[in-house]
Amino acid sequence: MSQNWRCPYCGYFSTLTEKNVSVTDGDLNRLSKSGQLKIRIVSISCPNDSCKSLTVESSIAPVKTVGRMGSGGSTTEIDMSAVVWRKTLLPEANVKPLPVSVPEEIRITYREAVLISEISGRAAAAMARRCLQGIVRDFFDIPQEKRGNLGAELAFAREKIDPDLWEDIQTLRSVGDIGAHMDKNVDQIIDVSPQEARSLIELIETLFAEWYAAREKRAKNKLALKEMLDDKRQAQKSAKDAARAAIPEDAGNKGTENASSD
Ligand SMILES: [Zn+2]
Repeated sequence: MSQNWRCPYCGYFSTLTEKNVSVTDGDLNRLSKSGQLKIRIVSISCPNDSCKSLTVESSIAPVKTVGRMGSGGSTTEIDMSAVVWRKTLLPEANVKPLPVSVPEEIRITYREAVLISEISGRAAAAMARRCLQGIVRDFFDIPQEKRGNLGAELAFAREKIDPDLWEDIQTLRSVGDIGAHMDKNVDQIIDVSPQEARSLIELIETLFAEWYAAREKRAKNKLALKEMLDDKRQAQKSAKDAARAAIPEDAGNKGTENASSD
């Protein structure tokens, strides 16, 4: 079995082989009004070495009878043409695939922000702010002695941040502060709606794309250009060597004689 597949985490296209894919079918209890159903779990390990993330999909479908030729017996198997329910278990919903260079700690915080946004906008805003701080520290390589306060960390990187993004980042920081310090204002309820939390998370996703993904792309391009130049130089050198080898030896001697006779 081999099929083209796009990893939902790293976004790379790859060809899946048997060793990257596992398929397990299980029986479900058959006393419900749904009758006899099976569940199929398909798990895929991303073949991209720098990713290797696990994708898990589940499908529930009725069974079909498959006759055995000649033997008179028959067996049942899941009928994948009649799936009644399907769900991707991993990656979790709304958690976007992130560029491979995003550090693990930031990935975790991002995922938590997305997952909690349905339940608590304030908690999601606080997580998004935390995620922003992780990104700023990592991406702009904020020196240890400058770390501590997000405002100061942002000021350190200000010149490198697009003015448009700068404004949005300040909003995220302020709303995130409200979420982060909600325990200090117990009498005061300032809510952040799930929709508002979603906007903050989208800004984080923009930073992943405009900072991390763009930097990866530039590095990849740079490498491709360097390889191209190396290739051309090698080709040029081979051509010169071939030309030199093609000149008969006496021709070279004759050249020297001519030069000395001048
Ligand atoms: Zn992947």
